Amino acid sequence: MISYQRSSNLLGEITDDQNMYLDSLHRVMSKLATEDYLQRIDREGIYPDEIYKAWVELGLFRIGFPEEYGGLGGDLKDLLLISQELAHWSYDIYSAYSVPLYTALTLLKIGSEAQKQTFLPALMDGKIKLSTSISEPAAGSDVSAIQSYAKAVDGGWLLNGQKLWNTAAGANGNVLQVLARSDLDAPARSGMSMFLVPNDSPGVECRKLDMLGRRGTGTYEVFFTDVFIPTSNLVGELNKGWRGLLACLQTERVLTSAGYVGSAQKVVDISLNYAKERSQFGKNIGDFQVIAHMLADMQTEVDASRLLVERAASIIISGADAMREVSMAKLFGSETYAKVSNQGMQIFGAYGYSMEYEIQRHFRDSRSTTVGAGSSQMQRNTIAGSMGLKP
Ligand SMILES: Cc1cc2nc3c(=O)[nH]c(=O)nc-3n(C[C@H](O)[C@H](O)[C@H](O)COP(=O)(O)OP(=O)(O)OC[C@H]3O[C@@H](n4cnc5c(N)ncnc54)[C@H](O)[C@@H]3O)c2cc1C
Repeated sequence: MISYQRSSNLLGEITDDQNMYLDSLHRVMSKLATEDYLQRIDREGIYPDEIYKAWVELGLFRIGFPEEYGGLGGDLKDLLLISQELAHWSYDIYSAYSVPLYTALTLLKIGSEAQKQTFLPALMDGKIKLSTSISEPAAGSDVSAIQSYAKAVDGGWLLNGQKLWNTAAGANGNVLQVLARSDLDAPARSGMSMFLVPNDSPGVECRKLDMLGRRGTGTYEVFFTDVFIPTSNLVGELNKGWRGLLACLQTERVLTSAGYVGSAQKVVDISLNYAKERSQFGKNIGDFQVIAHMLADMQTEVDASRLLVERAASIIISGADAMREVSMAKLFGSETYAKVSNQGMQIFGAYGYSMEYEIQRHFRDSRSTTVGAGSSQMQRNTIAGSMGLKP
């Protein structure tokens, strides 16, 4: 049914149940994520509501969560397989799944029992979405430079500040997980906290930004003016937001990287098909050695990315620290997605430069992946740090 390999089996065979679920997801996506639809949400910058609704009906957000919160169980391997499947359609569409997922995983890990009982079932039932707000105009790679401030008041906090580049922040029914300073006298890392803030709270304004790619799910700037946050919406411990940030970082980054693999594989698939069909000088362009070798390199690098993701995931599943391996998977996966998209553009010739063809969307979407969720340079810093260097 699908053209690509779902897993390299480094994490074990895919079970019949997993294959059945992925097939159902694939069927739903085949019906809804048509090229016309993907082009429309990209051009018009429309959130993919129809697809999101179908995911809710399929119980997608229940996978990976315990039954006590409405989940269906499942583990990291399930989430990796789903990530690859969805990103194979579009990295933009995948973001509509991954951002609520990561935020919910953080809540599961460090949220209070009441928060888990409230927000997780609401996400699974499609009543709310979830997203994460960390970056600010002066705080990107250096998270400790954030300036948004939650001042303690009777019954909670008053939040003021601005966030930037927040995926899906303005989506209907979205609840933001916001990192803010909560103690201005403490060093940043011991004076930040995480809060849940519904995006329709008085004083919250989300403005959609005009970005190069990922235009459906959307990237927003968010302004907070005297936003009241009740005590019950503090996530994790007060002033321990830095710890909260790290709680699920490895899982999030490995899932993000699985998304890169899915999208990069799609680029290889469409480029290969095109190379087999497009004829010049009396033969298919794929039979020119230079194009054939380019495609061979592209598939090799995508397979290497998949193996790096599965290696990192297997270490996380074992309970050991996988920071170095996760950074390698993130670095190589994002750079591969950007690289193969660029090569795909070359294979498609002028057709690739036309907005009618999917490859240009990958070319645009992939450019965000070496910057977002920790840039390539920051991943190299982490890897070099694990080698005893101090970049
Ligand atoms: C499409 C998209 C979606 C995003 N979604 C979200 C979201 O949902 N929530 C959220 O909070 N944020 C989000 N971000 C923001 C993202 O996390 C930041 O863009 C990222 O952390 C980098 O920060 P910056 O863009 O400010 O770049 P900067 O940190 O200013 O970096 C600029 C350049 O300098 C390099 N650099 C910086 N520091 C170092 C260093 N120490 N060593 C070497 N090189 C360095 C960087 O690698 C980069 O090349 C998103 C970004 C994009 C593009």
